[in-house]
Amino acid sequence: MTGEATQTLEMHERMPNFDYEAPTTLKAALELLARPGEVRPLAGGTDIIDQLKNNRRNADLVVDMKRVPELLKLEMNGVGLRIGSAVSCSAVHKFTSTHGIFPALSEASELVGSVHIQNRASIGGNVCNAAPSADTIPALLIHEAVAHTASASGGREIPLIDFFAGPGQTVLEKGEILKELLLPSPSKQTASAYLRFIPRNEMDIAVAGVGSLIEVDPANGIVTRARIALASVAPTPVRAYAAEELLEGAVIDAATIDKIADLAVEAAVPITDVRGSAEYRKELIRVLTKRTLNICLERLA
Ligand SMILES: Cc1cc2nc3c(=O)[nH]c(=O)nc-3n(C[C@H](O)[C@H](O)[C@H](O)COP(=O)(O)OP(=O)(O)OC[C@H]3O[C@@H](n4cnc5c(N)ncnc54)[C@H](O)[C@@H]3O)c2cc1C
Repeated sequence: MTGEATQTLEMHERMPNFDYEAPTTLKAALELLARPGEVRPLAGGTDIIDQLKNNRRNADLVVDMKRVPELLKLEMNGVGLRIGSAVSCSAVHKFTSTHGIFPALSEASELVGSVHIQNRASIGGNVCNAAPSADTIPALLIHEAVAHTASASGGREIPLIDFFAGPGQTVLEKGEILKELLLPSPSKQTASAYLRFIPRNEMDIAVAGVGSLIEVDPANGIVTRARIALASVAPTPVRAYAAEELLEGAVIDAATIDKIADLAVEAAVPITDVRGSAEYRKELIRVLTKRTLNICLERLA
C-alpha cells in the first residue's frame, strides 16, 4: 500500500459513523433535531466535518440545514438585514457590498478562509461554532445582531452578545437551532469597519480582530453611538464597553482615538499561545482599534 493510500485509510478510519438527513422544511428539521442522542446541525460543514473527523465532536445524527428554505433567506426590509442561518459568507458579502450596507460584516464575511470556504461556510455556522477568533462575530456584534432561534417547542430572541457560553459553546439548548440573525438598519451617519491580524495574507485564524462602529451627528461632530467588539482575546467574543461609553458624547479626534484604543485593550483578556503572546495580542487590539476607527471616519467624510 502506498503512503498516500495508508493516509487516506487512516483518515476514513477516524471518521465516526453517523446517520445523515437533509430535510427540506424547517418543521422536519426541528423534528429530527429533537430526536434523542447527539444530533448536530450541519450548514457548510467547514467546521463540523473536521471536528467529527478529529473526534472533537461526536454525532449520532447530522442534520443538513442547507435545503431548508427558511434558513436560506437573505433580505433587507424596513427593519433591517435578515440573514438565514445557512446563508453562505459569499452571499452575505455579495449582498452587503452590492447594496453598500453593513461594511464591517461585508469585510468580515470576505475574510473567512478562501473563496471556496466562503461559498460553503455560513454566517450561522461561524456564530454557532462559537470560536473566539470567528471573524464575522465582532461585525455582527457592533451591528447589534439579534439571534432568532427555533426548536420543536418554539423560539427565542437572544441579543448576540448573550449567545456565547465559552470557547465552542453557545446558549442553544438541545434541539434548538439558530434560525436567523436580524441586524437593525443603522442611520446614514453610521460607519463600521472590521480588521483582523493574521501572520499570512489569507487562510489563517485571527490572532486578534476588532470591529468598530460609530454614528456621528453631522451638525457638531459628536459621536452619538459607538460599538467596539474584539475577537481572539477572550474565551468568547467581547464588547469593549468602557471604550464605547467614553466615545459616545465625545468629538472624535486623534487624542480621543488614542484613549479609546487604551480602553479597548483593557477589555481584552487574551491567552498566550503558538499564534501570539497575550502582550502581543493586546498591542494588536490597540492598533486595530485605532485603524478601524480611522476607517470609520474616512467612510463618514
Ligand atoms: C481552511 C479553513 C479556513 C477557515 N478560515 C476561517 C477564517 O478565516 N475565519 C473564520 O472565522 N473562520 C474560518 N474557518 C472556520 C469556518 O469556515 C467558519 O467558522 C464557517 O463560517 C463555519 O460555517 P459552516 O456553515 O461551515 O458551519 P458548520 O461546520 O456546518 O457548523 C459549525 C458549527 O455550528 C453548528 N451549526 C451550524 N448551523 C447551525 C444552526 N443553524 N443552529 C445551530 N447550530 C448550527 C454545527 O453543528 C457546528 O457545531 C475556516 C475553516 C477552514 C476549513
